[in-house]
Amino acid sequence: MQILDGKKTSLQIQDEIRDEVIEIKASGSRPPHLVAILVGDNGASETYVRAKVKACKRVGFESTLIRLESNVSQCELIAIIEKINNDENHDGLIVQLPLPTHIDEKIVTSTINPNIDVDGFHESNLGKLMLNIPSFLPATPYGILELLKRYKVETSGKHCVVLGRSNIVGTPISLMMSRNKFPGNCTVTLTHSKTKDLVQITRQADILIVALGKSEFINSDMIKSGVCIVDVGITRVKSNKTKNGWKLLGDVNYDNVKEKCSYITPVPGGVGPMTIAMLLKNTLSSFRKDFLV
Ligand code: NAP
Repeated sequence: MQILDGKKTSLQIQDEIRDEVIEIKASGSRPPHLVAILVGDNGASETYVRAKVKACKRVGFESTLIRLESNVSQCELIAIIEKINNDENHDGLIVQLPLPTHIDEKIVTSTINPNIDVDGFHESNLGKLMLNIPSFLPATPYGILELLKRYKVETSGKHCVVLGRSNIVGTPISLMMSRNKFPGNCTVTLTHSKTKDLVQITRQADILIVALGKSEFINSDMIKSGVCIVDVGITRVKSNKTKNGWKLLGDVNYDNVKEKCSYITPVPGGVGPMTIAMLLKNTLSSFRKDFLV
């Protein structure tokens, strides 16, 4: 069994980005600039945004974190986004999800200028993904592809089973794994909460991508020997063994399945850090105007 080490790979990618930023600055240009908007005081969101800002610093990007009270109105939030949309000194804008329930996430997401939508959640960028037109790829599925690529995991002709059909992970990774390229060329089965005989399907998987949000859902009875498992799930549970009082669990019972796998991503240290690396990569692409329409 080989661990797909997302932490190590993310740092390698960050080093590559940092080298490019050094060249950008040496040419007299300003560095890429990412803006993150955080609404309210959700603990998990706070942790994710802090990690993104820290990664910006590591690669030499500028970053701005805009904190808004949880009772900010949708109109106020949209006005702030529109101001950033029109500022040429910003290359990436992310609004950390989830948002408070009085704010419509779809409206907010579609307000972001698609040219700086480095999360790749705007309908224009997701539409391009569907049509195989170069665009900002959603950072988590993009990170999964990059991890499979760098570890040279064979994907052609394999049966890839995806658990979960969200717009930000399950649905886009299903499309990407079926593309005629590497990683890709898989036969993909996309499953969800209405899927019947799920175990019978997961047992057929050569590559199993799990994005449910149900901690330790997958166990060794549900997989075949030699499977490659990508565990996207992150559930925060209370723990008296960690400094901050929390620990992270994946959707896969790691200790129970690991001996049966050819490859597996750990939680933490798997898909999470890759998501951050690809967000930075998208911001660099935006700075270079790779996908400008
Ligand atoms: P989500 O919006 O939370 O949706 C969960 C999906 O799982 C839904 O499609 C649901 O089906 C499906 N599902 C639930 N129970 C199921 C069951 N018993 N069998 C089969 N399918 C089932 O998904 P998400 O936003 O992609 O998040 C999933 C997990 O990934 C969460 O833990 C999240 O925190 C984590 N995540 C991690 C990263 C990262 O960077 N590592 C990034 C994003 C998300 P229905 O559609 O039928 O309801």
